[in-house]
Amino acid sequence: MIREDKATVVATVSPGDCARFAGDGIMGIPGWPHGGASPDHDWSRGMRAFTIGRVQGIAINVHPTFALVPLLVVWNQRQAGEWDAAALLFGMVLTGLVFGCVLLHELGHGAMALQFGIRVHDITLWPMGGVARIETAAATPKVEWLVAMAGPAVNVAIAIALVPVITLYGLARGYTSLSPLMDEVVAADGPGALLVYLLIVNLLLVGFNLLPAFPMDGGRILRAWLTAVTDRDTATRVAVAIGQVIAGGLIVAGLVTGQYSLILVGIFVIFAARSEGRVVRLETAMRRLSVGQFALWDSGGIDPSRPLPHALRGGPRDVVVTEEGRVVGMLWRGQLLRAMRDGLESRSVGEVMDREVVTADARDSVFDVQRLMVRLDRWAIPVVEDGLYRGVFTGERFIHVYRQVEMGQNRSGPASVFAQVGQGLSDMLRAFGR
Ligand SMILES: [Zn+2]
Repeated sequence: MIREDKATVVATVSPGDCARFAGDGIMGIPGWPHGGASPDHDWSRGMRAFTIGRVQGIAINVHPTFALVPLLVVWNQRQAGEWDAAALLFGMVLTGLVFGCVLLHELGHGAMALQFGIRVHDITLWPMGGVARIETAAATPKVEWLVAMAGPAVNVAIAIALVPVITLYGLARGYTSLSPLMDEVVAADGPGALLVYLLIVNLLLVGFNLLPAFPMDGGRILRAWLTAVTDRDTATRVAVAIGQVIAGGLIVAGLVTGQYSLILVGIFVIFAARSEGRVVRLETAMRRLSVGQFALWDSGGIDPSRPLPHALRGGPRDVVVTEEGRVVGMLWRGQLLRAMRDGLESRSVGEVMDREVVTADARDSVFDVQRLMVRLDRWAIPVVEDGLYRGVFTGERFIHVYRQVEMGQNRSGPASVFAQVGQGLSDMLRAFGR
């Protein structure tokens, strides 16, 4: 949250996207059954956000730390020496309206994503701004561009809509010039000031979110453009590098002007950009690996004619049911244990199994198969090659692959921010040199 001069203008950076992609594919594994261990800690799950409503099926959440916002407003007013009920009310109403605009910004992203059939997990309001978790990893650059543009477009629309409202307000008050309105603004008092502040905040939201730096929308827009001339991985690296240069600029500007919030935003952008770069690198690596390499043979699955207890050999787990090398069903761990508890030991595997067969091809990428598993809400999937059972790919296998890839990258990847910026810049020169 950036404070501009006195107590009232609060420009909120909307880190809409840092978690937008955190909700994607490999970072968190949303919706995996058995409370599957996520390969990456999900910072948003530490404290549960409250759902306050739904818009077009999108859950609107408020994070518990949001309770700090009114306290911050009170503290700001105190610092500014405006310690009276009217000023406090003004600050509270403005803050409420600002978060309303942030929410509309995120809903802009969400609504555009829904237009293209892209899944929107939820929108959460944090003291720092709004976070929309949207699965755009599979989206084309054009769609990603449209989704990124939709948020700032909402704030532009609000700002434009406020102009006639402010004009009408001025006319109603009998103002013949701008100066009485400006007096109101300087005094930070009354509906006129509220409207003008809101206009300014919306313009600041547009400006900040269009900075070409991850996790801001501008970073995504930039990457979508770059993807037209190079691959997504390189485009991300270039966008990350540019973002870090801008973050450096923000930090320097903060030091020079004494606006410490700029320094905080700069640091936040550096970390968010690095994590974005890491996610895309992992994603690219996962797209190159075929799932066949990582499928477990698991003694070729189990025949449907076998009695249930046979499926328990080797410990309770999800077992693929095969007949003459072809997959005919799945016997889920929970299903198996329940059947045993209910005294159905004498039944055959075929009588209890799940007959709905979904398989992955051995040549499919680990990335695609993981997404399929998330979509189906399944922890294991049989892998086939030319129609024949080749092995089972599970959530545990995925986490194993993920860790291996991550370790490999940490070893080879340049550790320092400076090295990353240098790498990004050289990538950029190469991309434009084509
Ligand atoms: Zn946004």
